Amino acid sequence: MSSPDTDYTLLREQMVKDQLIGRDITDKRVLEAMRCVPRHLFVPRDMEHMAYWDGPLSIGEGQTISQPYIVALMTQLLALKGNDRVLEVGCGSGYQAAVLSCLVDQVFTIERFSSLVNQARRRLNAANYHNVTVHLGDGTLGIPKEAPFDAILITAASPDIPIPLKEQLAVGGRLVAPIGSMGSQILKVLKKEQTGFETEYSIPVMFVPLIGKYGWDEKDWDRGRWFD
Ligand code: SAM
Repeated sequence: MSSPDTDYTLLREQMVKDQLIGRDITDKRVLEAMRCVPRHLFVPRDMEHMAYWDGPLSIGEGQTISQPYIVALMTQLLALKGNDRVLEVGCGSGYQAAVLSCLVDQVFTIERFSSLVNQARRRLNAANYHNVTVHLGDGTLGIPKEAPFDAILITAASPDIPIPLKEQLAVGGRLVAPIGSMGSQILKVLKKEQTGFETEYSIPVMFVPLIGKYGWDEKDWDRGRWFD
């Protein structure tokens, strides 16, 4: 448990210095967003004291809030501009959406568990992240009525990039996603050009699975096996 005088600002500054600048996060806007968002408000109360450690944490429903470095890296790979409209698939705790909301005009995030949706809405509201809209549903289908998006971030592991998400990405936009098997993936960056897609690869990762029509099937998922 945290004590009432735990200095989270200091812990956050240390996290940015050691885990982000100490690795390869160089985008100043991303570093500033990671410095600002109170990560301890997006984890279960009994884990607040671990909010700034260098790893993922459990958030319920067998899901996780990703390691701070992975959140920062994926955000950096999106190369966001201030007036972008961004879609996140896999809202989870709402933390990644809060980081995105510091960097762009509008964030749409979608989550398949209603308990996590309710919790994320409450937390984002309480912390005044009012440019984030949280949707409940299968994010592999995207949010057609809000498309196109200038950037799309998938924060769960998929065998491939869901076709509807490729379609809902604007020309000139970027999509970042962990793609691979259920046990291990690589971060893939897709850039949509007039003539097709350009692909780049970043680092190996391990995410909980994307379960849905264009992801994995629910019956293939063994809860408790993944920890990104
Ligand atoms: N970005 C989150 C955060 O900041 O806490 C962490 C995401 S967690 C690693 C992956 C999330 O994706 C889980 O909450 C999971 O329920 C969700 N998910 C998996 N399949 C999904 C789908 N088809 N549509 C929406 N959410 C999905």
